[in-house]
Amino acid sequence: MKVGLIDIDSKIPNLALMKLSAYFKAEGHETELTSPLFADQHGVVYASKIFDFTPDPVLPEHTIKGGSGYSLTEVLDEDIESMKPDYSLYPCDYAIGFTTRGCYRKCPHCIVPEKEGKFRIVGDVHDFWDGQHKVMLLDNALNTDQEHFLRICGQLAGLNVAVDFSQGLDIRYLNNTQAWALKDVRLWKQIHFAWDMMAIEKQVRRGIGILGKAKLKNKSMFYVLIGYDTTPEEDLYRVETLRGLGVDPFVMPYNKFDTYQRQFARWVNHKAIFKTVQWQEYRA
Ligand code: SF4
Repeated sequence: MKVGLIDIDSKIPNLALMKLSAYFKAEGHETELTSPLFADQHGVVYASKIFDFTPDPVLPEHTIKGGSGYSLTEVLDEDIESMKPDYSLYPCDYAIGFTTRGCYRKCPHCIVPEKEGKFRIVGDVHDFWDGQHKVMLLDNALNTDQEHFLRICGQLAGLNVAVDFSQGLDIRYLNNTQAWALKDVRLWKQIHFAWDMMAIEKQVRRGIGILGKAKLKNKSMFYVLIGYDTTPEEDLYRVETLRGLGVDPFVMPYNKFDTYQRQFARWVNHKAIFKTVQWQEYRA
């Protein structure tokens, strides 16, 4: 049997499709990435959509649909979820996967608590690493559990792989022990943190102090959500505070179609502008 796998809108290799491919190959079937146009040629078809705003393509009736663009509650069966991804599906030179799922926090703008539930450990790097020189971790709250975090950092350092903590780490959990473990990890991209809510200013300042002591400030950046529950004055306060503390802010507009949010994000995220022009001048 030939299994058709349709990746509707992923920006990175689709982990669920790679696991489905590995599962069906292990069962003796063929798999291939295909498009909705050719889906009819396959006895079994899976389609994955990540974003709910992506238009739905026309698909055969027997298509099995998954991904947060279709449903926040559908998950892969455990025997598929536990497969090592089939990296041959994409031209991909890095390993990709989760070692934890979920998050204890319930930030109102975030789909993770509804999609993945409470924080739990689900595995380690060896469950998805296949000899690549780079690893992209998809964990949403990796440093929630100190013991697990230190173990994962130890594995990554031992493998000497370049690492992207793609969903960021939680500055509120960061302590000196975690920072020193991070120092042993070879970084592929900057370490992301977030300052989304005004209420966590104290923890942000404390965390940046820890990053400073560990000499990790220049390897870190902070996402700043705007347009959700903060005022423009609070947005400016957060980015200027981060700048003053020596770390890079990166603005995430909640509504990309809002003129102020788009303009503010462009000012901050375009580093040549941010370094040379004040917001008041830029806006004028
Ligand atoms: S801490 Fe991060 S992952 Fe957890 S709910 Fe908040 S935004 Fe989502």
